[in-house]
Amino acid sequence: MRDETLPSQLLRWYDAHARVLPWRIGPAERAAGARPDPYRVWLSEIMLQQTTVAAVRDYFHRFTERWPTVADLAAADDAEVMGEWAGLGYYARARNLLKCARAVASDHRGRFPDSRERLLALPGIGPYTASAVAAIAFDRAETVVDGNVERVMSRLHAIQEPLPGSKRELTRLAASLTPDHRPGDYAQAVMDLGATICTPRSPACGICPWLHACAARASGVAADLPRKEPKSAKPVRHGVAWIGMREDGAWLLETRPENGLLGGMLGWPGTDWSGEPQGEPPAEADWRDLDAEVRHTFTHFDLRLALRVARLPHDLEPLRGRFVPHGDFRPSTLPTVMRKAFDLAHPALRGD
Ligand code: SF4
Repeated sequence: MRDETLPSQLLRWYDAHARVLPWRIGPAERAAGARPDPYRVWLSEIMLQQTTVAAVRDYFHRFTERWPTVADLAAADDAEVMGEWAGLGYYARARNLLKCARAVASDHRGRFPDSRERLLALPGIGPYTASAVAAIAFDRAETVVDGNVERVMSRLHAIQEPLPGSKRELTRLAASLTPDHRPGDYAQAVMDLGATICTPRSPACGICPWLHACAARASGVAADLPRKEPKSAKPVRHGVAWIGMREDGAWLLETRPENGLLGGMLGWPGTDWSGEPQGEPPAEADWRDLDAEVRHTFTHFDLRLALRVARLPHDLEPLRGRFVPHGDFRPSTLPTVMRKAFDLAHPALRGD
C-alpha cells in the first residue's frame, strides 16, 4: 500500500501556505466546495510554460478580462490574440492556444474534457499540460512534473544522476507519491514547495514539511541538486531588419509566415536568420545602417540582428509588407525581438 505520510504532511503545509494565484482555487475554498474553472487552469498552464508566475500575471488578467470563457477566446480574431500574447515568447503556443480553444468550442461544446487522455487529444496540449489540467481542474490522480517538482524529487531522494538523464526516474518517484486523496491540491503543493521553500540556490530546509524525510538535507548536498549536464553553447545566427517610417508616421510592417519562428506575429521585414542571411529590402529607399544591433536569445540559437532604417515617401508602394498608420501601431503588440529593434530604430528615425 502507498505510504500516505509524505503527501499528508505536504497537504497540511499547503493548507497553511498555499500561494494565492489568480487562476487558483485555494485549499480552503476547495474544501468548501469551490471548483477551478478548467479554462483558467488551462490558460495559466499554457502561459506558464518556459516562464514565471510574475511574468504571466498581467497577461492572464488581460486575457481573462477580454475573453472570459473558452468560447470567447475561440471567437477572437487571430491578430488580436497574437497581439495580446506579444512579449510572452514561444509564439507557437499562442497559435495552438487558439486552435485548442476552437476545438473545445466546436468539438466539446465549450467544456474541457476531464481526463488526461482526452485532454491530450487537443491541439497544443502535451503530456505535462494534460496531467496538470486533469489534476488541478478535475482532481484526477495524475502526476505533474515541472522543473520545481524535479528539483524537489531529486533532493528528497538525493538523486545524483544529472538532468535531463534523470527525468524518467524523477517522474517515477513523483508518481509514487501522488495520492488518491486531494491529488489536485497535492500537485499544486509540490510545485509551491519547489517555488517557495525548496528553491534552486538556497533551500529553506529548516521550515520544510519534508525536512525529516529528505535524503539531500541529511547528507548536506541539497543546494547541489539536481545535477545538470553542462549545456553546449548556442550557435549564433545573423539577420537584417528594415525599419521604414513613412512621412506621415506610418510604419512598414509585415505579418510573419504562419509556419516559422514568430509565425503569425507582426514584425519588420527582414532577411532570413542564418550564418549568411539572404533577403532584399522591402522597398527601394535610402536605407542606412544603424550603428547598433539587436541581440536576442531564442531556444536554439542567439540572434544578432542588424538594423537598416529609412524615411519613406508618401506615395511609395512597398515590395512586401504593408503600412500600419501611426495611430493604429502599438509597439506592445510586437514580439520582443521586434520591439527591441523598434526601440533602437525609433529615436534614429525621429531625429532625422
Ligand atoms: S528538506 Fe530542503 S532540500 Fe529537502 S525537500 Fe525540503 S527544502 Fe528541499
